[in-house]
Amino acid sequence: MDIPSKHVFDALMDKGIDELHHANSVATACQFLRSRSLLSRGTVERLGITQTPQSSDDLDKRYGIWFDVFADSVDIHNRARRANAYGPVLFVFNTELINRSYTGRIWVTKLNPTKWSGKSEKQRWFQDKKDLEDNITKGTFDQMLVFRHCGGELPFKKFLKRIVLDDPQRTSEEDVDFYSMAVGALKLAMSYSNLDIPIERRVCRLGCKCNDNYGEDDERLYMMFDPKI
Ligand SMILES: [Zn+2]
Repeated sequence: MDIPSKHVFDALMDKGIDELHHANSVATACQFLRSRSLLSRGTVERLGITQTPQSSDDLDKRYGIWFDVFADSVDIHNRARRANAYGPVLFVFNTELINRSYTGRIWVTKLNPTKWSGKSEKQRWFQDKKDLEDNITKGTFDQMLVFRHCGGELPFKKFLKRIVLDDPQRTSEEDVDFYSMAVGALKLAMSYSNLDIPIERRVCRLGCKCNDNYGEDDERLYMMFDPKI
């Protein structure tokens, strides 16, 4: 169910959600910076540019959300104290972004699409302003903003405030530090589009498991950090 963006904006601000988040791999984040927009998975695929495969891709296609752009109300890495499955680059936006979305209407999930099987529309999506006011809560992973019918491309204009980048504290086979490699790639991508967004090295909460997560799977580490993959 689509809801006027003003209603979504008001509900989020009421709950103290003044920042929105989008996590992705270094390679895909570079594409976003070059195009000054968040792009849907479908759009990135159609353009024939690189993107990191995600386990939810088949599901997204099945549910018709492959051309939609997603944003989280929460920094999942920080809250869950683990690496974000979508990638080590976190874009942090001013919530104002949604007020300026040119679609004018936004969808908000109640459940992550990975849990949609057997659920009704009402269980999958927030229905209206009152539903948002009653049930949206800060820090709930399942509640995602979905920009549909935006042509798969959401310009973020001046609303991208900063980029938080994970440091896996590891080096490639050529002995290149993954964090430095990622910073270099993101800065190069910004130079193409005259952006100068601050990049912060993520400071983890005590007990964060991200370092273990990045050590579990070398192939995935490369997929997430190598700007060329
Ligand atoms: Zn961490």
